[in-house]
Amino acid sequence: MENQRLFLNKKKSRKGLWITLSIVLIIVAGGAVGALGFYNWSFNQAVHGVTSLVQNQFSGSGNDQDTVGIENREEEADQEVEEEAASADGSVTAEEGNSTHSSSLEPEELLTPETVTEPTYVQGVLIANKQYPLPIDYAPGVDPEANEAFERMQFAAREIGIELVAFSTFRSYEYQDELYHRYVEKHGQEEADRFSSKPGYSEHQTGLGFDIGEEGQEQYWAEDSFKDTEAAKWLAEDAHHYGFILRYPPGKEEITGYQYESWHFRYLGVELATKVHASGLTLEEYLGI
Ligand SMILES: [Zn+2]
Repeated sequence: MENQRLFLNKKKSRKGLWITLSIVLIIVAGGAVGALGFYNWSFNQAVHGVTSLVQNQFSGSGNDQDTVGIENREEEADQEVEEEAASADGSVTAEEGNSTHSSSLEPEELLTPETVTEPTYVQGVLIANKQYPLPIDYAPGVDPEANEAFERMQFAAREIGIELVAFSTFRSYEYQDELYHRYVEKHGQEEADRFSSKPGYSEHQTGLGFDIGEEGQEQYWAEDSFKDTEAAKWLAEDAHHYGFILRYPPGKEEITGYQYESWHFRYLGVELATKVHASGLTLEEYLGI
């Protein structure tokens, strides 16, 4: 009995040994296969990686991707500008081919009449101020639509005994150059810069800026004292009905760059002029520039 039990035990333990061995063998074999697979996979990856790197470097596709990225970003930016213009409150839209700068962007570099190639339109509105100059050769003459509007305004003012006259409208770059230097000689540059534009920066070069006074009242033309005349008061209240806004109102010198000019009006068309007038904002504030 004892021996038989021993034999059986031995038999049992030998059977157990085989099972254990088999399991170990399976694990080892599985592991080996797994490891080989992983090695294979990583090898492929490495080779593929090197190949793509080499291909990118030699075909230049890496650079192309960057370029495409930039183009896409530019397209997106353009789209944003267009959408902004479209969603803008004003009825005007950006004029094609004329929109060189958007309202939301600060100019990347300081623009000068020498470097700027196109006039700046913001939401379809032609802008000439100390930030956005006009090209030297931009010389459209007085705007015919603005001129007709002025005549209508003149007619309306005449009805109440005010004889308006536009004593300065379109001024070319060359003329402004002459004028500015005359003012600098007389008043010094710091003073001249408060009431006169450097050539290329004047709204008069757009053909849409009108200096308005009263016929026979030359002593008030372009003078601070004009603001107290009936004509100036009427203009400040009513010019927008004819499409004009008081462009450099009092207390806004920090924004417009110019001291109060009760005689300088800008033609915007009746619809926009009425909106700007109602807002109580300067053109810069209204357009967000
Ligand atoms: Zn003026």
